[in-house]
Parts: sequence; C-alpha cells; structure tokens
Amino acid sequence: MELLKQLYAIHSPSGNEKKMRKFLKGLIKNNVPGASFTVDAMGNLYVCKGKSETYPCIVSHIDQVQKTHSKDFQAVETKDIIFGFSIGNVHQEGLGADDKNGIWIALKCLQKYPALKCAFFVGEEMGCRGSNKADMTFFSDVRFVLQCDRKGGNDLIWNIGGYTELCSKEFLSATGYQGFGYKLEHGMMTDVEALKDKGLSVSAVNMSCGYHRPHSDEEYTVKSELLNCSKFVEHIIDSCPAVYPHEETGGWGYGRYMMDADTDDAELYDWITDFLFAYPDASFEDILMEFEDYGFSQDQIEVAYEDVKSMYF
Ligand SMILES: [Zn+2]
Repeated sequence: MELLKQLYAIHSPSGNEKKMRKFLKGLIKNNVPGASFTVDAMGNLYVCKGKSETYPCIVSHIDQVQKTHSKDFQAVETKDIIFGFSIGNVHQEGLGADDKNGIWIALKCLQKYPALKCAFFVGEEMGCRGSNKADMTFFSDVRFVLQCDRKGGNDLIWNIGGYTELCSKEFLSATGYQGFGYKLEHGMMTDVEALKDKGLSVSAVNMSCGYHRPHSDEEYTVKSELLNCSKFVEHIIDSCPAVYPHEETGGWGYGRYMMDADTDDAELYDWITDFLFAYPDASFEDILMEFEDYGFSQDQIEVAYEDVKSMYF
C-alpha cells in the first residue's frame, strides 16, 4: 500500500496533472523494464510493455477533483480503510482515490505482466478532455480495455447512461465477474466511453475500485474492495487471451440525437443524463451542485434537467 499512499500524496487537480505524469514516467522508467512511453499534445501518457501481437489494456485518469490539499496532507491507513487528513487544519482532505486507485492497479499490472498497454488520461473530470483527444492508433492492437474508475466495490459498467454500449456479451461472460462479487450496472461518462465514441473496436468495461464519496474531502478507500478489484483485473488478463471485438452501434445518445452536435449544451445534456441514470432520485439541487462549477448558468442547467427528465424519467 506504500505506492498507493505515495499516489494519494501527489496533488493532481484537473488541468495541472504535471506532477503525477512526472512521477509515473520516473516510476516506469526505473521499475518497469521493457516498457516505453509517449506523451501526446494533451498530456496523456501512453505506456507499452513488451512485444506482442495483441495486448491487454488498462486505462485510468490522472486528474482529481479536489482543490484542497495541504502541505501536511497524509494518507491515514487503518485496518480497513484509507482516508486523507491534514493535522494542521484538523480536517479530512480528499485522496483523489478517484482515480488513483485505478492508476495503482495499472502500475501493479505493468510490473506483473510481460506484455501490457496502459493509457493515463488527463482531464477526465472536466468532461474527458484527454481521452476525447486520445491517439486511437495506440489501441489498434489491444484485446480489450479495462478501466477501474467507479465508486464502491461491486459495479461492472458495461453501458453508459443506458445508451452507449461498451462491450460484447461474450466478453462480459468471459470476465467471470460473478466470482468476484460484481454485478452489471449502467454508469456515468468516463474515458472508456470517450474511446468507444471515438471508434474503439474492442470491448471495454469500467469497474468499481474501492473508493467512496469521490470528489469530496470525505473520500475514502475500502482496502478489501480495492484488492478485490485488482484480483479481478488480473483474472481478466489471465483468462481472456483473445481479442474481444465490439462496435458501438448505439448511435442515439441524447447529445447526438437531440442537440446540434456543436452546442456546448450537448455535453451538459449527456452529463445530466448519465447522472440521472446513476442517481435516479437526484433532485434539481443535486444536479445544480454537481454541474454549476463547469461554467453553465443555473437557467441552462434547469432547462437541460427538465428536458432530460421528461425524455427519460
Ligand atoms: Zn474518475
């Protein structure tokens, strides 16, 4: 867990992920023989280890939502959980376990497996800015794409917001998810969805990796859930040696269907749709709290919220 706590100690807010990228590059250079990496213009980091015809692939995001991170931040580990704390401020502070838990699993697998590809994206929390501009050639020889970027311990996300399918049924059953206590769920926007929208032609999933209360100062990680996710990922890599093709045929995503593709609102509609699928009981105030930081007016959010509600709920 020492590496995990090192990751928690690095403050990596969206738009300023330099420190985390530098840490990862150094770590991979010094500890993962046979791995090479590239960085694109967005700041996304792509790692390829070994030589193989096809590769398992893990993606994660290196930005975090929390803006508060004191100089004396510590990751405090108890028997069951890890949380962040500043003694000076006598206050809990967020870990950025969303998505450092995912980064940690990717790094563990990079050390373990002789052939693996990993992408570390910037700006996921700002609407998947990094993965929306991902270099898709990197994914041309991958078997499937795994992302560990979901709260809790039991969700296997195979579908985003009820309309973007991420993977084939064959792949879902090949993962053996039931054996790890996972259940199939719809999820919210994240990098694997952006990759599917950009034409990723293999199966992808997103899965719970043990963080709770993401985006808040009260964020914490349940160690047993994180470790179970890590075992599940290794199990998929070990037991899925084939390529699992999957073309996204959905094509009626709300943003694409309802809105002129170029309006800024299209993204807001997508986000609200995803949010309401994940939290059907959310009130307008919840929606407002979630999205007003992204530069939309209260009126815009209200109109979008009413539209999405009348369309789906
Ligand atoms: Zn995340």
